[in-house]
Amino acid sequence: MSNVLIIKSKDELNFSSLKRGKIHRLFIHISENALGIPWRVPLIVIKGHEKGKTIGLTAALHGDELNGISTIFKLLEDINPLKLKGNIVLIPISNIPGYLANQRYFLDNVDLNRIMPGQPEGATSQIYAHHFVNKIVKKFDYLLDLHTASHGRVNSLYIRSDIDNEQTRELAYLQKTQIIVNKYDEEGTLRAWANSNNIPAITIEIGNPSVFQHTLINATLEGIKNTLVHLEMLEGEVKDLVTKDVTVCNSSYWIYSKSGGIVDVLPKLTDRINKGQVIAIIYNVFGEVKDKIIANKDGIVIGKNIRPNCEAGTRILHLGVDIKEPIPETIPGHKDFTPV
Ligand SMILES: [Zn+2]
Repeated sequence: MSNVLIIKSKDELNFSSLKRGKIHRLFIHISENALGIPWRVPLIVIKGHEKGKTIGLTAALHGDELNGISTIFKLLEDINPLKLKGNIVLIPISNIPGYLANQRYFLDNVDLNRIMPGQPEGATSQIYAHHFVNKIVKKFDYLLDLHTASHGRVNSLYIRSDIDNEQTRELAYLQKTQIIVNKYDEEGTLRAWANSNNIPAITIEIGNPSVFQHTLINATLEGIKNTLVHLEMLEGEVKDLVTKDVTVCNSSYWIYSKSGGIVDVLPKLTDRINKGQVIAIIYNVFGEVKDKIIANKDGIVIGKNIRPNCEAGTRILHLGVDIKEPIPETIPGHKDFTPV
């Protein structure tokens, strides 16, 4: 292993102490566990040979959402710090206890991505969130937060972003995803905190939990490289604008089951759905059809449940609706983007 710098408990991420044109590996002290031993977040800083912007990529803020880890490792292989302007900060594992327990939540079963920016004093998750934001994320100019579906569900490759905001819309349209969903920032998320602190941020949802899906990971990687070119951190041209393949939805919602039983969700990810279509069949334990769930709008399948044993009130299908057609051809307001 190459040298890993261990940052002392009080210290935060500080670029000025790191050499230009090199890759640095650090552990940042965030909080402490019950042995009094630090929770240290591993962090890779690719420090470019010239000044420029700082972009941060956070993965596994939900501890079992792992596709972002591989995305970060592949990006690391592809970036030469001598050809980079600015800094790329890579955090492959943001929620250390969650990752160790292979679970979404922090140690106290709190969702870190609902309590950002945390509190300096209070519950253990609050303290962790506070230092994570203040020692690391605060240093970014841009943030890409990498997630996946949660346990028992699968996702397409999609973006959650406020596309009415010019900066976050640009970030969204630079990615090579299947779907973009217009989402105002949900309170307590890292994305919401960043956007309200002048750090443009989007969430990239990369498929399924607890696995590496290399097709989706590679597509995510292309979008991230597009972003680096667009931000003038790398030389080159923005490639393969998403405009040809992406579906942009003005909103989305989950369809829930009203009854319990054994559920079979019928459509595949990214299938187009028509209003009135049967999207799931619920069987009783004797194999008889008990109920059918019907789509109440036209839309596209963003994510779905794959756990057959479902109580009443289970999330069944995440439907993207109010689809923008035709698909926008350019990133509005950006002079360098020409229509495809
Ligand atoms: Zn997540």
